[in-house]
Amino acid sequence: GASKDDAGVLGRVRVAVRLRPRNSEELVADADFADCVELQPELKRLKLRKNNWDSDTFQFDEVLTEFASQKRVYEVVAKPVVESVLDGYNGTVMAYGQTGTGKTYTLGRLGEEDTAARGIMVRAMEDILADISLETDSVSVSYLQLYMETIQDLLDPANDNISIVEDPKTGDVSLPGASLIEIRDQQSFIELLRLGEAHRFAANTKLNTESSRSHAILMVHVKRCVKGRDPTLLNDTGNSSHMIKTLKPDVVRKGKLVVVDLAGSERIDKSGSEGHTLEEAKSINLSLSALGKCINALAENSAHVPVRDSKLTRLLRDSFGGTARTSLVITIGPSPRHRGETASTIMFGQRAM
Ligand code: ADP
Ligand code: MG
Repeated sequence: GASKDDAGVLGRVRVAVRLRPRNSEELVADADFADCVELQPELKRLKLRKNNWDSDTFQFDEVLTEFASQKRVYEVVAKPVVESVLDGYNGTVMAYGQTGTGKTYTLGRLGEEDTAARGIMVRAMEDILADISLETDSVSVSYLQLYMETIQDLLDPANDNISIVEDPKTGDVSLPGASLIEIRDQQSFIELLRLGEAHRFAANTKLNTESSRSHAILMVHVKRCVKGRDPTLLNDTGNSSHMIKTLKPDVVRKGKLVVVDLAGSERIDKSGSEGHTLEEAKSINLSLSALGKCINALAENSAHVPVRDSKLTRLLRDSFGGTARTSLVITIGPSPRHRGETASTIMFGQRAM
C-alpha cells in the first residue's frame, strides 16, 4: 500500500479500526481469557494476539479503543469527508466488520434519548445543515438496501428494483428510480432514518433474511449556490470596466456523501447451510471482495479501479479515486473466540492502506 509520504494524497483510503467493548455475555463467558487484541492508540497500532507470548502488530491511520466516544469516532472517521462534500466533492464513509462488532452502532445510531450516542449519519447531517443556507442551498437524501445484487428503496418499499445509471462521459452515477427527499431540519432526517429502518426490517422479514446480509446505503446530495465573487473585492486597478470583466457568475457546487453500512463480513461456512443463506453468502462475498479489489487499487494508486464486478462498486464508482475521499472504519470485537474473523477484518483494513 501507500507509504506515509502519501498521507495527503486525495483518493487514498483512510482506515480506522474501532474495538467495541465486551458485551455482558463475553464479560462472563470469557472472563478468564484475555482479549484477542491489544490497542495502542497513541502509536496508532493494534496487536493481534497469536498466543500467550506472541502477537502481530498492525498500523492504522487511527486506532479507536472501546472508550472512544461517538463524537470522537465521527471526528476522526467522517468529519474530513463531510467537509470535502461541503466543498463540492464526493465522499464515502464505510463500516466493515463481522456482524455484532458495531457497524450500525458507529454509523446508524439515532441517539434520540441520548444525543451523545448519535452515530455518523446523524452527526454528518447536523454538520451539513449547520454549514449550508436553506435559502440558496439544498440537501436531499436517498436511503437504500442492496441485497442479492438488487437495490431496494428504503424510503418507498414498493420501489424494490432500482437501476444504476452511469454517465459514460463523466462517470457520474445516478439512481433515477430512488426517492430523493429534501431535508430541512435534523428532526425530519432522524424520522426518515427511522422510517427507512422500519421498511428495511419489514422487507427483510418478507424475504426471510436479516439486515446483516445486506448493505444499507445512505446518499446525501448537497447542492450549494456559490455566489459570484464581488468585483469590488477583487479589483485593484480602480478601473470600472475591468471590474465588470472580473465579475464571476454564481456557480452550483454539488457534493455527494455516501455512507455504507456493509453486510457482515463473516465467512460462508459460519452462515448456515440453508439454500438461500448460501446464495446470500455468495452474493455478500462477491460484493465485499469486489469492494476490497477497488480499495486495493486505490491504495496502490492504480489507474484501473475494477468497479464493474458488483452493484456495490458500480454504485460507488463516482466516489472512488480522483478528488473523492474515502474513509473506512473496520469494527472488531474483543472476544478470543472470534479471533479468526477479527484477523480477517484486520487484513481487509490493512490491504486498503
Ligand atoms: P453490527 O451492525 O456490526 O452487526 P451493532 O452495531 O448492531 O453491530 O452492534 C452489536 C451490539 O454491540 C449492539 O448491541 C451494540 O449496541 C453494541 N455495541 C457495538 N459497538 C459498541 C460500542 N462501541 N460501545 C458499546 N456498545 C456497542
Ligand atoms: Mg448492523
